[in-house]
Amino acid sequence: MTITEAPVTATPLDRARAALRARLLADRVLIDLGSPGLYGRTGVFERVYTAVDTAAVRSMADLDSEVLRFPPVEPLAAFERTDYIASFPDLAASISGFTGGDRKHRELLAARERGERWESFLEPADLMLAPAVCHPVYGLVGDTVQQAGRSFDIVGDSFRREPSLDPMRLQAFHMHEFVHIGTPTSAKAHRDEHIPVMRSLLEGFGLDIDVVPANDPFFGRVGKILARNQVEQALKYEFVTPVYGDAGEATAISSANLHEDHFGLSFGLRTEDGEVAHSACLAFGLERITIALFAAHGTDPAAWPAAVRRALTL
Ligand code: ATP
Ligand code: ZN
Repeated sequence: MTITEAPVTATPLDRARAALRARLLADRVLIDLGSPGLYGRTGVFERVYTAVDTAAVRSMADLDSEVLRFPPVEPLAAFERTDYIASFPDLAASISGFTGGDRKHRELLAARERGERWESFLEPADLMLAPAVCHPVYGLVGDTVQQAGRSFDIVGDSFRREPSLDPMRLQAFHMHEFVHIGTPTSAKAHRDEHIPVMRSLLEGFGLDIDVVPANDPFFGRVGKILARNQVEQALKYEFVTPVYGDAGEATAISSANLHEDHFGLSFGLRTEDGEVAHSACLAFGLERITIALFAAHGTDPAAWPAAVRRALTL
């Protein structure tokens, strides 16, 4: 059995995922790198991906955001302050490096020679792979943010350790985030005013969109309670689209999240009036939107409906 075939016991959802994955690979949209959720990308993928990103940026032009770009790894100290490890330990991933001398190196090579895994010879470095691209910004704005708030345009690599054969669930992907740090009112307005904008952008791509309270995969038993609270408080919304039709739940391709004072408290951020700063973040899942487009309209963009091609200026 090759990795692209669903097992005999597969559910309709497994089969739908395997079929989309097989089509994207066969039609040379994605390239299998031999590890679930890691793909190379070809020209046709890149063309649509770039068009999606450009349209997303255009839709947020009113924000006049400050542009920031960060590397795909973040210092452990910054990661700590986000509290990510409390909620999503299973998705987190750290960087390790070799710090031994000659002797340890010989032991590593001997283990490798025996066909054993050798990564245990590496030591954790104080670096984490970034699971969300907005994290570094909260440590960079200083302790006082102007009363009107500040908006940021951040895009970059995200890594989440969730290997899967679902082509919508990658381990390494990109999100384009529009973050606002300001007052409770300005943060909430940032989220609420842009929900319709994001919705109509995604609908303009010819996708069926629902906006629903988010259901993040918080870890463990406590996580079940956190997940229930998240839905009840309705702080975070997701833009979902039924990539697999009736076979499974619709997939989140973007999100709009009000953090309230979460980052303000942990990073010690205040507005000029002395109140704890609030933040909100709009995130476009760039690969998910791109793959949803291929799933909805086929793998040849030249054959997509004219209105969709216009919306994407393809
Ligand atoms: P927060 O600000 O709460 O940390 P966020 O808004 O930065 O969260 P998420 O909502 O978790 O981040 O993710 C943003 C978007 O990234 C999702 O809507 C989705 O489109 C995309 N995404 C998340 N996980 C994956 C994945 N495994 N593969 C591909 N895209 C993903
Ligand atoms: Zn964010």
